[in-house]
Amino acid sequence: MPQSEFSLIERYFANTGTTQYSAKLSQGDDAAIVEIPPGKQAVMSVDTLVSGIHFPEQTSAADIAHKALAVNLSDLAAMAATPAWFLLSITLPEVDETWLAEFSARLKNIADQYEIELIGGDTCRGHLSITVQVTGLVDKDRYVTRSGANIGDLILVSGQLGNAARGLAFLQKKIRLPKEEQELAVQALNRPIPRLCLTAFLQKYASAAIDISDGLIGDLKHILEKSGVGAVIRQADLPVNKWIKQNNAFQYALSGGDDYELCLTVSPDHRNHINAWNQNNPDCQLHEVGEVTESGYYLITDDQNVDLTRAKGYQHFGE
Ligand code: ADP
Ligand code: MG
Repeated sequence: MPQSEFSLIERYFANTGTTQYSAKLSQGDDAAIVEIPPGKQAVMSVDTLVSGIHFPEQTSAADIAHKALAVNLSDLAAMAATPAWFLLSITLPEVDETWLAEFSARLKNIADQYEIELIGGDTCRGHLSITVQVTGLVDKDRYVTRSGANIGDLILVSGQLGNAARGLAFLQKKIRLPKEEQELAVQALNRPIPRLCLTAFLQKYASAAIDISDGLIGDLKHILEKSGVGAVIRQADLPVNKWIKQNNAFQYALSGGDDYELCLTVSPDHRNHINAWNQNNPDCQLHEVGEVTESGYYLITDDQNVDLTRAKGYQHFGE
């Protein structure tokens, strides 16, 4: 990268986010150096957002910055890891200082909020695309995977499902939403909340977890396949906004994307801990939506049992 561009990147991306696990060597050298504290393991993930594919082209620089980091933090949340460091690769059609200023301001906010430090990256020219690689830390072997679900476990999801997909459909003018619903839906699409609030709960009580990026049905299926079990989910118990209920638009919650809520399985023995959690954490609620079974995969609706193992046919369900 030419010196002039490097100083630009330095201006916008130096000192982004702080963590108690501060890097030994951060941006500015050929590579960064970090130390894994004794007794911890590193948990790593990477995600790319391409303009026009992972976010609408008109998305603001601030919203892109938020989402690029939030979707990666969501992967750490699903593993019950604590954020520590990230790398950022930006491909930009041109060096646009207004765009960079807006992007980096929001990036700093969210990096500070979730205590993750930007330790390096890359900058190049091309179609707008952002790649973030995150590293989190977890106490040795206290991570949660997709493969531990047991028969009889409760299936829980955090927050509300379907709002982001509804926001996208609204922006694409595929649906109309009442004024008071628009902001919630667009906000859910552009500003997902990584559910790091659940890290301690997951470590104590979850047998398996995944973050919901492609709709509950598809993502829960990953848990079922990795764990070698089946499930039933009850449509009536899905945590959805009233618009989805009134319009019988459950497909947004079941097979819509971009919610970044967590889906976890928990033994029914921990029901008292789930209730206590919900009483103490009004902003990070858990909702019981079904059970892990020996085999099969079904959605119970008001009038039928839908076989979800034929997921392909399911995609048009309710539409
Ligand atoms: P190289 O030529 O070795 O790829 P670069 O010139 O791309 O190095 O980067 C120089 C330094 O600036 C590196 O330490 C790199 O991590 C950092 N850097 C480059 N782009 C970014 C970015 N978008 N965000 C954070 N750090 C960056
Ligand atoms: Mg480089």
